[in-house]
Amino acid sequence: MSLDPQLLEILACPDTHHAPLTYDVDAQTLTCTECGRIFPIRDGIPVLLLDEAVRPAGGADDGGAGERGGVSQPSGADA
Ligand SMILES: [Zn+2]
Repeated sequence: MSLDPQLLEILACPDTHHAPLTYDVDAQTLTCTECGRIFPIRDGIPVLLLDEAVRPAGGADDGGAGERGGVSQPSGADA
C-alpha cells in the first residue's frame, strides 16, 4: 500500500508550525521535517494526531511539556 503523492503534498504536521511531512515507505510512517515527530499510517490513512505521534528520542526542543526529572549539577561539590 502506498500513499498518494498528491495527498502527501497537502499533508502537514498538526503542530503549530504545519511543516511538510516525509513519507517513509518501508515503515509506513510520516515524519515531520520540522519537529521530527513520526506519524503512523493505518490502513493507508495517515494518522496526523499529536497524541498518536512518536516523538524523536532526545529531540525535544519545545520547552515545557515532557521535561525529564534528572537534574545533574556539574559543580555541586560544596555540600
Ligand atoms: Zn511537526
